[in-house]
Amino acid sequence: MQPETVPGKTALITGSTSGIGLAIARGFARAGINIVLNGSRPPEAVESEREKLGKMGVEVIYRQADMGDADHITAMVEAVLGHFGGIDIVVNNAGIQHVEHIEDFPREKWDAIISINLSAAFHTVRAALPAMRQRGWGRIINIASAHSLVASPYKSAYVAAKHGLAGFTKTVALEAARDGITCNAICPGYVLTPLVQNQITDTAEARGISEQEVIEDVILAAQWTKKFVTVEQIAGVALFLCSAAADNITGIALPVDGGWTAA
Ligand code: NAD
Repeated sequence: MQPETVPGKTALITGSTSGIGLAIARGFARAGINIVLNGSRPPEAVESEREKLGKMGVEVIYRQADMGDADHITAMVEAVLGHFGGIDIVVNNAGIQHVEHIEDFPREKWDAIISINLSAAFHTVRAALPAMRQRGWGRIINIASAHSLVASPYKSAYVAAKHGLAGFTKTVALEAARDGITCNAICPGYVLTPLVQNQITDTAEARGISEQEVIEDVILAAQWTKKFVTVEQIAGVALFLCSAAADNITGIALPVDGGWTAA
């Protein structure tokens, strides 16, 4: 890895007040990258985290925006461009999950998942790309999923959104390839974050089994290492994709899944 290529750059990381997004923010800040945190909570709720990251010697700002709302996203990107004069790295990370049989899957949950997990990436990239092209350098990293490559039952909206995100990644990669911009998807297996904790609870309910059984028989059954992927591992891969060594890696869906999608 050549992290010397990234200090001084600016990264917008959506949904970055917890889990994988926050770990990427920490990893990037440590590498000298200015950070735009995003979430739907008011600024006071994330001020202590913002301050902590700022102590790493980079500028860290927070933008409240609902990633399910195209106008919020466009306004956020414009505000960040105004503040920093550009966005070098976009990490499309915000995501939600809902686990239920198709017949009982609430329509509003389907719409929310497609909107936050897929359309938000389109709106963010659409707004940020012109400034990246102007600078002739950019990194777009979509936090997709093993569910971009394979399906599981009861996750219709999530699997559809994540497969869509992998397709969107390839299209952006092709359209931006001549401007020094790469676009890649990281496809994590199971990472123990609030999103997965909720899923463990929901799956236990949907299948009528205990949470421990869900972890052993459902979640880690798919992961051949029998270990959760860590948020730090995802952050490390994201940082690698920002390095000069990754200049010619574009349009890929990179599994970080303990062998799940190899089977
Ligand atoms: P998480 O719940 O900790 O993170 C999701 C983040 O998205 C949260 O910070 C949440 O506040 C934010 N978010 C949700 N809706 C939002 C909205 N409308 N506006 C703004 N922010 C919003 O869970 P995570 O596991 O860290 O998930 C991060 C990403 O990683 C998601 O896209 C998820 O699909 C993906 N992923 C997670 C796993 C896993 O096992 N945890 C596996 C594969 C992919």
